[in-house]
Amino acid sequence: MTIVRDSFYINGEWVKATSGDVLEVTTSGTGELYATVPAGTVEEANSAVEAASSAFSAWANTSAKERGEFLMRISEKLAERSDEIALDIAHEVGMPLMLSKGIQAGLPTMTFADNAQRAMDYTWEEEVGNSTLVREPVGVVAAITPWNYPLHQIANKVAAALAAGCTVVVKPSEVAPINAFILADIVHEVGLPKGVFNLVTGLGPVVGEAIVAHPKTDMVSFTGSTRAGKRVMQIAAEMVKRVSLELGGKSANIILEDADLSRAVGDGVFKCYLNSGQTCSALTRMVVPRSRLSEIEDLAIKAASGLAPGDPVTGSSLLGPLVSAVQQQRVRDYITKGVDEGARLIFGGTTPLEGLEKGYYVAPTIFSDVRNDMTIAQEEIFGPVLSIIPYDSEEEAIAIANDSNYGLAGGVWAGSDEKAFEVARKIRTGQVEINGGNFNVVAPFGGYKQSGIGRELGQYGFEEFLEVKAIQHN
Ligand code: NAD
Repeated sequence: MTIVRDSFYINGEWVKATSGDVLEVTTSGTGELYATVPAGTVEEANSAVEAASSAFSAWANTSAKERGEFLMRISEKLAERSDEIALDIAHEVGMPLMLSKGIQAGLPTMTFADNAQRAMDYTWEEEVGNSTLVREPVGVVAAITPWNYPLHQIANKVAAALAAGCTVVVKPSEVAPINAFILADIVHEVGLPKGVFNLVTGLGPVVGEAIVAHPKTDMVSFTGSTRAGKRVMQIAAEMVKRVSLELGGKSANIILEDADLSRAVGDGVFKCYLNSGQTCSALTRMVVPRSRLSEIEDLAIKAASGLAPGDPVTGSSLLGPLVSAVQQQRVRDYITKGVDEGARLIFGGTTPLEGLEKGYYVAPTIFSDVRNDMTIAQEEIFGPVLSIIPYDSEEEAIAIANDSNYGLAGGVWAGSDEKAFEVARKIRTGQVEINGGNFNVVAPFGGYKQSGIGRELGQYGFEEFLEVKAIQHN
C-alpha cells in the first residue's frame, strides 16, 4: 500500500499542503510506487522559517538540561521504532535491511543521545584574561539533506542544532523523505515546543532555495552534491549567513606493499560498495603497488563475487540496488565512459542483472589500470564501481590520493599502524582510516577542498551551531 503524506510539520502541527503537487517515492528494489509527499511552495517554506524564528528566543533560553532531556526522549523513540525506520530506508534507498537497521536506524539514535549528553556536559562559559566567553546558539538553521543516509544526515544537523539552542527547518531529499516524517511524528510525540522543529518537503530549487534565502534564516547546514552546495553558498553569501557544507568525495584507499593484502582488498571492496557505492566517503579509488597488481585484481574479483546484489527488503544479500532509475543510468554511463577512456573492466559492467530487471540494480564493477586523470577516477560516480590505480612508489601513491578536487576521506593499509599513520598524515582529507579502522560516530566528519566546509558529529559538529561572545570585564 502506498504511503501518503499530505502535510508539512510547521509550528508544532501538521499543516495541509496547498499546491496539490506531489513527489513520488519509489521502492528501489522493485521500482514500484512506495509513497507520495507534498511538493512545498515558497510560501510554505517561508511560513516554516517564520515559525522557527518565533520559537527561537524561548528555545535558546531553555536550560541545556531541558534540551538534553528532549533529545534523549527523541533518541529513545527512534530506538523503539528502529525496525520500522530500517524497513522504510530499505525501501526508499535500497540498503539491505540487515545493514539498514544498524546503520540507517542506529546512527541517528546514537547521534540524538550523544548530543543530549553533550548539551548537558558542555562548558558554556569560560574565562580568558579579562573576558568571559559565552557560547550562544546561531539562530534559525535551514537543514537541507540528501537521500543516501537520509535520517543520519538529518540527525547530524537537527540533534546538534537543537542541543545548541537553535531552531530548525528541515528540507529532506525528495528521493527519500518518509524517514523525515517519522522523525517529525516523534518530535510531536515528545512535545517539543512548537516551532522548534519544522519540516517542509519539496524540490531543492523551490523549498531549498527559499529557506536559504529567507532573511530570518541565520545558518544553512547543507549535505549533498558539490553542485548544489555551491548554489546554496552563493545565495547565503548575499546575507553573509553561516554555511556548513558536507559535499561529495572521491576517496583513495592506499595499500602499501607490506600490507596484509587479503584483508586490505576485502575490506576496501566492501567499503567501496557499501550502500551500493552511494556513500560520500566511499573508498572508490584503490591505489595499489604495480608489482602486486594481478594478485590484488584477483582478490578484488573474489570479494566482489561474494556480493551478488539482491532485494534489500526480502533478500539476504549485503548489496542492494541504487536509489533510483536516474542514479542507475548515471552509474551505467560512467561505466561506459571508463571503458571508452581505456580503463580495463575486470568485473561487472552495464549488463542488467538476471531476475532483478525491475529494480535499480547495477552489477558490482571493477576497473583496473585506471589512470588518475580518467573521469572515473576524478568524478564521484555514487555507484558500486571500484577503480584500481597502480603506483610505482609511496610518494606517487600519496600524490595520486591528493590529486583530487575532493578531500573527504581516505584509507591506508600498511604492515604496521605506525607506518599507516605516517602516510595518513600526508593525505589532505577530513578523515582517514588506517588498517580498516571503523567509523566513529563522535569523530568530526567533513571535508577539505571541494568536499565542504565545517564538520558534523561529536563536539566539532555541535560547535558549528554556536556563536561565541566575549564580554570584557575589569
Ligand atoms: P543533491 O545536491 O542533488 O541534493 C541534496 C539536497 O539539496 C536535496 O534535499 C535537494 O533537494 C537539495 N537541493 C538541490 N538543489 C538545491 C538548490 N539549488 N538549493 C537548495 N537545495 C537544493 O544531492 P543528492 O543527490 O541528494 O545526494 C548525493 C550527494 O550528496 C553526493 O554528491 C554525495 O557525495 C553527497 N553527500 C555528502 C555527504 C557528506 O557528508 N559529505 C554525505 C552524503 C551525501
